[in-house]
Amino acid sequence: MASNAYRNGTSSHKGTIKPLAASNSSNGKSSSFKSRLPPSSNHSPGSAPLRRSNSAGGSDGVPGRVRVAVRLRPRNAEECVADADFADCVELQPELKRLKLRKNNWDSETYEFDEVLTEFASQKRVYEVVAKPVVESVLDGYNGTVMAYGQTGTGKTFTLGRLGEEDTSARGIMVRSLEEILANVSPETDSVSVSYLQLYMETIQDLLDPANDNISIVEDPKTGDVSLPGATHVEIRDEQNFLELLRIGEAHRIAANTKLNTESSRSHAILMVHVKRSVLSAEDVIPSETDKSSHFAKLPKPLVRKSKLVLVDLAGSERVHKSGSDGHMLEEAKSINLSLSALGKCINALAENSSHVPVRDSKLTRLLKDSFGGTARTSLIVTIGPSPRHRGETSSTILFGQRAMKVENMLRIKEEFDYKSLSRRLEIQLDKLIAENERQQKVFDNEVERINLEAQNRISEVERNFADALEKERLKCQMEYMESVKKLEEKMIENQQKNGCDGFMKDKCNGEGPGFSVVDDVAEVKKLLDKEIHMRKEAEEEVNKLKSQLRQCTDSGEGGDSEILKLQQALADEVHQKKKLEEETIVLRSQLLQLTFEADQMRRCLGRSGSTNGYGGLESPMSQVRDSLNGHKTPVAALFEQVGLQKILALLESEDVNVRIHAVKVVANLAAEEANQERIVEAGGLTSLLMLLRNYEDETIRRVVAGAIANLAMNEANQELIMIQGGISLLSMTASDAEDPQTLRMVAGAIANLCGNEKLQVKLRSEGGIKALLGMVRCGHPDVLSQVARGIANFAKCESRASANGIRSGRSVLIDDGVLPWIVQNANNDSAPIRRHIELALCHLAQHEVNAKDMITGGALWELVRISRDCSREDIRSLAQRTLNLSPVFRAEMRRLRIEL
Ligand code: ADP
Ligand code: MG
Repeated sequence: MASNAYRNGTSSHKGTIKPLAASNSSNGKSSSFKSRLPPSSNHSPGSAPLRRSNSAGGSDGVPGRVRVAVRLRPRNAEECVADADFADCVELQPELKRLKLRKNNWDSETYEFDEVLTEFASQKRVYEVVAKPVVESVLDGYNGTVMAYGQTGTGKTFTLGRLGEEDTSARGIMVRSLEEILANVSPETDSVSVSYLQLYMETIQDLLDPANDNISIVEDPKTGDVSLPGATHVEIRDEQNFLELLRIGEAHRIAANTKLNTESSRSHAILMVHVKRSVLSAEDVIPSETDKSSHFAKLPKPLVRKSKLVLVDLAGSERVHKSGSDGHMLEEAKSINLSLSALGKCINALAENSSHVPVRDSKLTRLLKDSFGGTARTSLIVTIGPSPRHRGETSSTILFGQRAMKVENMLRIKEEFDYKSLSRRLEIQLDKLIAENERQQKVFDNEVERINLEAQNRISEVERNFADALEKERLKCQMEYMESVKKLEEKMIENQQKNGCDGFMKDKCNGEGPGFSVVDDVAEVKKLLDKEIHMRKEAEEEVNKLKSQLRQCTDSGEGGDSEILKLQQALADEVHQKKKLEEETIVLRSQLLQLTFEADQMRRCLGRSGSTNGYGGLESPMSQVRDSLNGHKTPVAALFEQVGLQKILALLESEDVNVRIHAVKVVANLAAEEANQERIVEAGGLTSLLMLLRNYEDETIRRVVAGAIANLAMNEANQELIMIQGGISLLSMTASDAEDPQTLRMVAGAIANLCGNEKLQVKLRSEGGIKALLGMVRCGHPDVLSQVARGIANFAKCESRASANGIRSGRSVLIDDGVLPWIVQNANNDSAPIRRHIELALCHLAQHEVNAKDMITGGALWELVRISRDCSREDIRSLAQRTLNLSPVFRAEMRRLRIEL
C-alpha cells in the first residue's frame, strides 16, 4: 500500500497537476507514510544504529517529512438534499494518491497527497495508513503526532475521537493507537499514561480535571522540550480504563454550537500519551575501567525511552466570517483562529525553510513545536466535505495539507541512560556473583581437600608397595641363599659319605667335579651380595630423595605440619629399612665369607686329592688356614676385614636362626686362624659362643659353636678364659645331651684341648670334664673316640708332669673317674689315632707308682707290655719300655707273671 513511490511536484501530467511551489529535495525523496520510518530500535539483527536524542547524548536525527493524507467525508443527509443537483467539488483518484478539485465544470486542479482516503475508507484503514506508523515510532522511542485538520463537520472528531462503543469498527485513531500501544508494552518494565487537554481561546484546560483550567506550558531551557507539568497524568492499564478517561474528557469538553454544525467543537482537543519503556542496548555495554573480562563489562546498557504521542483534534478551520458568530462568539472565533492561523504561519515558514518560525505566537504552535519542524514523526489528516458550497474552505484545507507536506522533521529517539535500572541490575548481578563466588570457593576448597587426600593416599600406597617390594626382595634373597647353602650342605654330606673324608673343614672334599659347583655357588652368592648392595644403594637413594623432599617442604613452608611429620615418619621407616638392609648385607657377606672359606677348603682338598692326612681333626683347619696365609691374604681374611668382627659377632645374637648359624660358622672359621683368636676373644666372641652353647639346643649351632670353642681352646690364654666363664660345665652339658657324633666330636675336641693345660686340671676335673669326656664314648664314633682318647692322653700327660715336678701326688684322677677300663679296652683299637692317644695315656699314667697297682688290676699292664713290644711308633714304644723298667711295682708283677720285655 505504501510502497509505490511518488515524486511530489515532479509529475508529468502537464496542466492537470498544480505544481507545489516549494517542492524541495526532501519531498522528492519521500514516497509514502511508511517509507521513511526511522529505523527500528528493537534489537533486530542488522538494524541501523540507534539514533539518540539530545538527552541521551546523541545529536543526529533521521529526516522524516510530515505525512499528509486527505479524507473525504461522505455526503450527509443535508447535502444529499441541498446538493442533489450538483457534483462533488472534489474527485478522488486514490490509486494515484491524487485529488482533483473542481474549479468549474471543465477545469480542475490536481493535488497529490501521501494518501487519499475516499468516503468509503474504513476507520481501520485510516488508522493503519495515517496513525499506525506514528504509533510504531512512538513504541520505538520517538515522539509522534497525529493531527486532524479541516472545516467543521468534515469528520476530524469522527476520524480521531470515535469511541466505537456500539460498533467497534467505528473506533477512531485515539482508541486504536492506545490499543496498539498497550498491546506492545510490558507491564513490568514499561508505563503508559495520558493527559487529555483542551485548548480554547488560548487557555489550556485539563479535560481529566476541569478545575484545572489554566495549565501553563513549560519549556526545558536546555532541550527546548515542551511539557505541561500541571496536567493530570493518568496511568493506563487497559483499554477500558482508557475509554473511561476519554468519556470523562468528552463530557468536559466545551462544545459551542455554530451555525454550520451544532455538534462540532470549536476547541482544540489534545490527547497526550506518554510511553516510558526500558530497553537494553545490544551494542553498548557498560564501560569498565578495570577489566574487560569482568562480569560488569558485559552488562548491556540499560536505557529508558520516554516518548510521547500527541493526538490533536483541531477546531474547525473555516473562516471567521463563515461562522456567522458575533459578540462572545466572535471573540471565540478569533481566538480559535489565532491558534490555527499561527499554525498555518508556522507551517508556511517551515515549508519555505524560512529562518523564522513563529512558534511562540500561540499556545497551539508552542505545544506542537516538536510535531512540526521538530523531532517527532507527524501525520496530518486533512478532512474535507464533498459539498461544492464549501469549495473555498475545501480548497484552503487542501492547500494547508499541501504546505504541511513540505515540513521536514528530524526524528530523534527519546532515550536516556537508565541509572536507576542499571544500579538495580548491578546490585542483582553483584549479589549473584557473590553467591556464585561463595559456591565456587566452596567447590575449590573441597577440590583442594580431595586432591590432598588423594595425594596422601598415593604416597602411603607407594610407601607400602615399596616396603612390600623390599620385604619380598629380602625374603627372595634369603630363600635363594638358603637354597644354595642347603645345596652345598647336601653336597658336603654326599662327599663325606663318598670319601669318608675326615676333619672339621675337609668334609666337603671328595674329588674333582663338585668343587666347581661350589665355586659356582660362591659366584651366585656374590651375585646375591651385589644385588643386595645395589638394593641398599637404591634404598639409600630413596632415603636421600625423601630427605631432600622433606627439606624442600620445610624450606618452602608448604604443606602442613602433618605433611612434615609424615615425611619424617617415612624417613624414619627408610632409615630402619636401610639398617635392616645393612644387616642383611652383613649376613650375606658373612655367608659369603663362610662359603669362600669352604670353597678354599675344597680347593685345597682337591689340590691334595688322594693324599689323606691321617692326623685329621682339629689341627687341620688351623694348619690349612696357616697354609693359606703363606704370602698373601686368603679371601676369608679379606672378607673378615671388610665386614668387621664386631658386626659378625653381633649376628651371633640375631633372631634369625640361619643368620646365627652362619655367623657361628664364620666365627668358627675365623677362630681356626690363630691370628684372629685374640681379636675374637677381645671382642667378646668367646662369651657369645658360650652363651650360644648355653641357650640353644639347635644341633647345628651347638656343633659349630663347640668347633669354634675347640679352636679357641687351642690357645692357652683362651683355655683359662673358657674355664673362668664356665666353659667346662657348658661343654659337659652338651656332651651329655648331644647325640650328633660331629657335635660330640667338637665338644670332645674342646675338652681335650683344655685337658692339655696343667693349671686347669683340678678345676676341669672338679667340674666334671673327665666324666663328660668319658661319657661321650657311648656314641662309639671313631672321631669322637679319638678326641676322648686325646683328652685323656693330654690330661694324663699334665698329671704326670705335675707329679714329676712334685706339684701333685696321689692316684690319678683319671683312675678315680673310671677311665681305666675304657682305655684298657681301647688300647688296641683299630683306629690308629685312638690307639696312639690311648697308648700315650697309658704310658703317662704308668709313670707314677701310685697308679701302678690300679693299672695292674685294671689290665693295663698287659697293654703296656704290648705297646713296649708292638707299637709302631718308636717313641711310644721306648716310652712304654722305659716306664715299665723304671717301675718296681710293674717289674715285680712282670716277674711274677714271667713277662719279659
Ligand atoms: P468535525 O469534528 O470535523 O466537526 P465531525 O467528526 O463531528 O466533524 O463530523 C460531522 C458529522 O459527519 C458527524 O455526524 C459524523 O458522524 C459525520 N461524518 C464525518 N465523517 C464521516 C465519514 N467519513 N463517514 C460517515 N460519517 C461521517
Ligand atoms: Mg469535531
